[in-house]
Amino acid sequence: GALGLPDANGAVEGLFIAWMDISDRKRAEQQLAEANRQLAQYARQDYLTSLANRRVLDEQLATEIARARRDGQPLSVCMVDVDWFKPYNDHYGHMAGDGCLQAIAKVLKDSLHRPADFCARYGGEEFAVVLPNTDLEGATKVLENMRQAVIDLDIRHGFSATAAMITISAGFTCTVPILETDATTALQTADNALYQAKLEGRNRVAFQPFFSHTYLKPETEK
Ligand code: GH3
Ligand code: MG
Ligand code: MG
Repeated sequence: GALGLPDANGAVEGLFIAWMDISDRKRAEQQLAEANRQLAQYARQDYLTSLANRRVLDEQLATEIARARRDGQPLSVCMVDVDWFKPYNDHYGHMAGDGCLQAIAKVLKDSLHRPADFCARYGGEEFAVVLPNTDLEGATKVLENMRQAVIDLDIRHGFSATAAMITISAGFTCTVPILETDATTALQTADNALYQAKLEGRNRVAFQPFFSHTYLKPETEK
């Protein structure tokens, strides 16, 4: 045979070597595919909390704004921020702070019940929540549930000026079906509402109406 062994053995050995070759390559291909899958996931998921990241938020928000426009439905856009989180980190350490963010992320996610509801880590200790087909009353309920669920975590915070435990503030706006909506304005309005919640004492939910200069054309004129 090719390897200088007797014919029958040579053929078997040749086959064996070829099989090893393919097997190694297959394994390398599988490892590469797995590495690519992980990279694709890291590009869309926040590593600390496993929530969707900012990139996915932008995509999701654009999709839901378009859908709300088609369906003539309201869309609630919310920002959530941990109260007095800098003093928490400063006194209990970054590791404790990270654990706290993970616990809060889980609570926020578990507070969402509809398939289209969406929560992302916006950055630092801030989270964005998108609630399709949800008006002022509905969004208030969801955010109040989140606020209470974080209190129920009962994470001691001896350096909060609001309570002896970790609390969150939330601000939101609700898009209006007849007004042109863009993601930036919606997020900015939610952020203004969040700022208001902070000013009014934290550990609360605040709403600011959505405003836009442009009316949507009625369907019949398109
Ligand atoms: P406020 O009630 O007004 O929100 O006060 P605050 O202290 O929460 O606000 P500020 O924005 O000053 O603090 C945010 C802090 O969040 C800064 C940093 O210590 C902490 N932080 C941001 N990202 C992370 C993170 O990934 N891990 C940890 N451990 N801390 C973080
Ligand atoms: Mg903040
Ligand atoms: Mg904060």
